[in-house]
Amino acid sequence: MKKHNFYAGPSILADEVIENAAKAILDFNGTGVSLLSISHRTKDFDDVMAEADKLFRELLAIPDNYKIFYLGGGASTLFYEVAANFLGKKAGYVNTGVWSKKAIKEARRYGEVEVVASSEDRDFTYIPKGFAIPSDLDYLHITTNNTIYGTEFHEDLTSPVPLIADMSSDILSRPVDVSKYAMIYGGAQKNLAPAGVSFVIIREDMLDKIVRDLPTMVSFRTHVDNNSMFNTPPVFPIYVLMETLRWLKKIGGVDEIFRRNGAKAKLLYDEIDRNPLFRGTVEMEDRSLMNICFVMAEGYEELAPEFLEFAKARGMVGIKGHRLVGGFRASCYNALPIESVQALVGCMQEFEKLHAKR
Ligand SMILES: *Cc1c(COP(=O)(O)O)cnc(C)c1O
Repeated sequence: MKKHNFYAGPSILADEVIENAAKAILDFNGTGVSLLSISHRTKDFDDVMAEADKLFRELLAIPDNYKIFYLGGGASTLFYEVAANFLGKKAGYVNTGVWSKKAIKEARRYGEVEVVASSEDRDFTYIPKGFAIPSDLDYLHITTNNTIYGTEFHEDLTSPVPLIADMSSDILSRPVDVSKYAMIYGGAQKNLAPAGVSFVIIREDMLDKIVRDLPTMVSFRTHVDNNSMFNTPPVFPIYVLMETLRWLKKIGGVDEIFRRNGAKAKLLYDEIDRNPLFRGTVEMEDRSLMNICFVMAEGYEELAPEFLEFAKARGMVGIKGHRLVGGFRASCYNALPIESVQALVGCMQEFEKLHAKR
């Protein structure tokens, strides 16, 4: 049976990306050697890095005064590295969920953290808006898409201090005005690659604002100056990331994927709102296009385990909600085809016919 992959992360990649990666594992570029066992200091891998850089810049319209580099360690490592590099006295954080809280916790090791806005008062079901940003902060940190709760910033903030964004789960899913950010980072395993690599897009002037003497591997300057090659980079995930960027360009770039993501999200949210058995969990205007959370509606709560089994039997994979939210989460990342959303909506409608109380 065809499976529909709604995993939150690591998550779906385009079929052709996986096929190309599989070929490269067997024989990379006709070299007769596997991608898994080449040196990162070869011309072939240099070409991969250069192409990834070029495509990333082109697809996200990254201005020339920004650098891109790759790291192991995941977004969670970057939570402390951001603060280690840039938190001298005080930083501002917007608390929109689990990942923001983890970032805040790590930042507090390095200095004062002012939580300038939070949606914790209503269980992270909305994105705070219209909050004041103090001008004495070293930087302001936001999480643009809240993978667990299913909320998303739909506009780029204007900030008087350097804006740093964790875009782990919505990178390249929508157009972003990169010039409004001092740094964009994330784990690549949600929208771009298998687990094992993080990406950082950083404005060059930030490298002069590093506030302390740091271990070599922690300083962002090391990785910019060495073009992600100070030590062995995660060769395989970077290769797959490059293949994903190629795929994204081929299908029409970020504008096209944003259109597709909008269509997928509308289809599913419309069904959640229409179907009497289900309801959404967050403010409509802040709904994420990537992670769509829903639960059984009032009066149908006890059917949740049954719906999970029902959907699973029809090929749905990974729709169990995060334990903090419960219910269901359908992650609709870039590579998820609309047919998968149609299949899920079909399940919801079939389930309604079986169980709707009249
Ligand atoms: C998944 C995720 C993380 C954690 O990423 P790791 O690479 O596992 O450390 C951080 N932030 C957001 C928004 C995420 O979705």
